[in-house]
Amino acid sequence: MLRFVRRPAGLAALSMFPVAGQAAETADRVAHPVLLSVLIVTGAVVGCGLLVMMLLHLDSASFRRLHRILTDLPLAVAIIRRKDGVLLYANKRCCELIGVRKLGSRYLYPDDISAEMLCDFLRPLPYRHGFQNAPEALQLKPGFTLSLAVTGQPIRFKWQAAWLLYLSQPPQQPASSALLEQEQRIFQQVLNSLSELVYYQDRSGQIIGTNKAFNRFWRGRFSEGVMDDENMAASLHPLHTWTTAPDGASRLLETNKTQLIDDHGEVIGTLSISHDVTDWHDMQESLKQEIEKREITEQALAQRSSLLNTIFEASSDPIGLYNEHGIYVGCNEPFARALGFTQATLLGKSAADVLEPDKWEEFQESDRQVLREGKTVKTDDYVILEDGTPIWYEMVKTPYRDPTDGVPGVLVMARDVTERRMAEQQLADAIMELQEMSFVDSLTKVANRRYFDEQLRKLWHGHIREQKPLTLILCDIDSFKAFNDNYGHQQGDYALREVAKVFRDVIRRETDEVARYGGEEFAFLLPNTNPEGGLVVAEKVHRQLAAQGIVHAYSDVDDKLTVSLGIATVTPLPTQDYGDLVEMADIALYKAKAAGRNCTMVMTDSDR
Ligand code: GH3
Ligand code: MG
Ligand code: MG
Repeated sequence: MLRFVRRPAGLAALSMFPVAGQAAETADRVAHPVLLSVLIVTGAVVGCGLLVMMLLHLDSASFRRLHRILTDLPLAVAIIRRKDGVLLYANKRCCELIGVRKLGSRYLYPDDISAEMLCDFLRPLPYRHGFQNAPEALQLKPGFTLSLAVTGQPIRFKWQAAWLLYLSQPPQQPASSALLEQEQRIFQQVLNSLSELVYYQDRSGQIIGTNKAFNRFWRGRFSEGVMDDENMAASLHPLHTWTTAPDGASRLLETNKTQLIDDHGEVIGTLSISHDVTDWHDMQESLKQEIEKREITEQALAQRSSLLNTIFEASSDPIGLYNEHGIYVGCNEPFARALGFTQATLLGKSAADVLEPDKWEEFQESDRQVLREGKTVKTDDYVILEDGTPIWYEMVKTPYRDPTDGVPGVLVMARDVTERRMAEQQLADAIMELQEMSFVDSLTKVANRRYFDEQLRKLWHGHIREQKPLTLILCDIDSFKAFNDNYGHQQGDYALREVAKVFRDVIRRETDEVARYGGEEFAFLLPNTNPEGGLVVAEKVHRQLAAQGIVHAYSDVDDKLTVSLGIATVTPLPTQDYGDLVEMADIALYKAKAAGRNCTMVMTDSDR
């Protein structure tokens, strides 16, 4: 009831403005009921809130209590929202029975069950009065159907209409004894077909069945084949025991023992299965030994490889490896340096790109022998350094096979033999020089007397065999003493060199020779030449010397240097001596001198 409260008179008396005082009174009269109604509404709202909170508290407390009771209940319990079949709760047994998963505060059906399926199942059932033992078959996975008896009651769960369902498995129909017997027979056949040794015991440890493999193996000594529980109990893992097979061989058995549990979860016995794992064990053992051996070998290989690497790196001789395609796969620094590279830049390059084309050709030649015939080949090679210095190497090429990929290749070991080569070269030069010195006249550079004598001897014998004419021309410079006396000895030497030059030009045929016979005398040896041929040469000597025009103002013969020539020709007989030929030429020369000089005289066998 709303009530207007009269304003106290005192307050009106205090008012200075009677009009304003009236207005305030009117407002006061209106404000009181509004305030009152606000207060009443607020009170009602707060009251309702408190009531709701209390109810919620009561609800959650009761839910927690319910949850505790339901969770450990041996019966499978589920709460399902009525309108859409969503699973709101499932206790532990229910989770186990149909495979519900709990995700945080949510409960999820297994993959093969959906909320719609549950809705379809519950829709025709009476919600108000509930139902009892409605049969339901859940297809949980292909080939497996779970038969259930479902009892449902309507509840309100978290303010929602829901079904409280009890799920139980209907008692199995006892199988007929014939069916049981058949099952047992099949079961025994299955066991007999196994190669493993199988036996099963009841709870007291009494053997109630074995298979054929077990019987065969343990014939006459069953007790040996049965594990006592003391041995087995301690380990969940398989037990390994060595025993003797009927054939007397030692065998290792691995035995697994598991409990047999009936449909009600009761332990009714144990099942033991033994496998023969001797072969596996032997294999393991040999594998272990193999691994140990390999480890030892690997260690040895690693040591050897590090030793080889040390030798490789420490060697001042170039060592390199390239595969059959000519790709450098390993080398030490001296090897790379010899080819103008560093170790890092040479590896991976092809020898075809690194070497000069002609050298690459040469290399392939010897590589072919190494790779195809598996031979070790020794070759000499040289490289020219950037500054033009040649370096000579003695190389050994050996076949090589990469241990990792089996690709064949060539191992090259080179030794710097430049010093030895140089020494050899110098020696060869020195020998050559010596030989030249021993056969060449140092002043005139034509052959010397030694060479002449040797050559004459050889030719003489050759001509005896072939019966060919051999011609000798002895030549003496006219009035040379006067030349020396007047122009000096040095000038005389110069004249001798000039004369020798003319003589060298005269003899064209390769087989003809001119030698300094002694002092200012020269000799021409003309193999296979008759006196006419000798005269032709003699004519040329006179003509070309005259053409040279060496002035000799003190000669008795001419104002130029002249010579006198004595020709002797012999087709030698074995009874003759080459001294005869020289003597004849000497006589002819004497005759030429006697005839006035600057002329030629000829002596043949017939003149003697
Ligand atoms: P001819 O032969 O015409 O009878 O008179 P000739 O003056 O040439 O006489 P002879 O053959 O006896 O003289 C040889 C001279 O040759 C003696 C020597 O002075 C000179 N002679 C010999 N060998 C050399 C030499 O190696 N160098 C120089 N410069 N002179 C030489
Ligand atoms: Mg003389
Ligand atoms: Mg003379």
